[in-house]
Amino acid sequence: MPVALEDTLHRPLRDLRVSITDRCNFRCVYCMPKEVYGRDYAFLPRRDLLTFEEIARLGRVFAGLGVEKIRLTGGEPLIRRDVERLVAMLAAIPGLDLTLTTNGAVLAQKAQALKDAGLGRITVSLDSLDDEIFRAMNDVGFPVQTVLDGIDAASAVELPVKVNVVVKRGINEDSILPMARHFRELGHIVRFIEYMDVGHTNGWRLDDVVPAADIVAAVDAELPLEPLPSRYPGEVAERYRYRDGSGEIGVIASVTRPFCGACTRARLSADGSLYTCLFATTGHDLRALVRGDEGDDEIAAALAGIWRGRADRYSELRSSATPDLPKVEMSYIGG
Ligand code: SAM
Repeated sequence: MPVALEDTLHRPLRDLRVSITDRCNFRCVYCMPKEVYGRDYAFLPRRDLLTFEEIARLGRVFAGLGVEKIRLTGGEPLIRRDVERLVAMLAAIPGLDLTLTTNGAVLAQKAQALKDAGLGRITVSLDSLDDEIFRAMNDVGFPVQTVLDGIDAASAVELPVKVNVVVKRGINEDSILPMARHFRELGHIVRFIEYMDVGHTNGWRLDDVVPAADIVAAVDAELPLEPLPSRYPGEVAERYRYRDGSGEIGVIASVTRPFCGACTRARLSADGSLYTCLFATTGHDLRALVRGDEGDDEIAAALAGIWRGRADRYSELRSSATPDLPKVEMSYIGG
């Protein structure tokens, strides 16, 4: 029976996001801009990455502390070799909701193996259906059709798919309605995400954020919506359903309506640092623990201590000054 573990603001530990690589095959302008993540960028050396065995061990310890959901992310998780082997190891943890976030570039090739390994569902990030806009946003000229083929491949093997869209003012606002229409037809939930001030490299400005309320209004004007109650405490997306019963969308209003008060999430970087907030400045070195002499009980006690001391609520404290504070990059910590 998991122990009841709460942080200083009475938030339980329920979700773990695991970045399994800091590398990505895209250079999305708002996440890993080319000017920073160019040829000379020093990515983590392989020996610094947690092995699959180390991740699975930590996954079991976290599950013992109350974690019910693990999301694999990155960087781009599907470019870590044999990722399906890790999925199979984590899928063996009883009662775990196991999911993964991907840019979909190689999903068509990987969908069957991920399903066979026991992945429960998948989130595909896609910012536009317009090929020109999409190529400009991923900044490696990657065609939208390949991602759409990946989504179809995941559906074909019965992996439930959600689509995440980061909306940046002046870049892909006009993609909101076409995305809503397209994925309503296909029966996939689309979630529109406010552009956030993660890291330092993306030059974030509040003016670049399209508020969730405007996104909902834009969809509602053509496809009438009504709000849905959240399914569980701490649900990040605010849900709306089409009034004609043809499906639902979500919005993630991390800037205009922050949800720190209900945040039950911890994040593990690819090199094994634990962060208790997406906007944290420092992590806790779990790799030293798993590579040391500690047993699982000692690691669990250390994790419990970290969680009990947690007080982060960056998004609720966000102000015009906070973007300049030191923070880690999303590609490192995992989105
Ligand atoms: N490569 C995978 C992918 O594309 O989904 C996983 C990692 S990516 C960092 C995870 C998610 O973070 C993506 O949906 C991405 O769009 C989102 N993201 C990255 N930078 C963001 C930002 N500044 N604001 C909001 N979302 C962001």
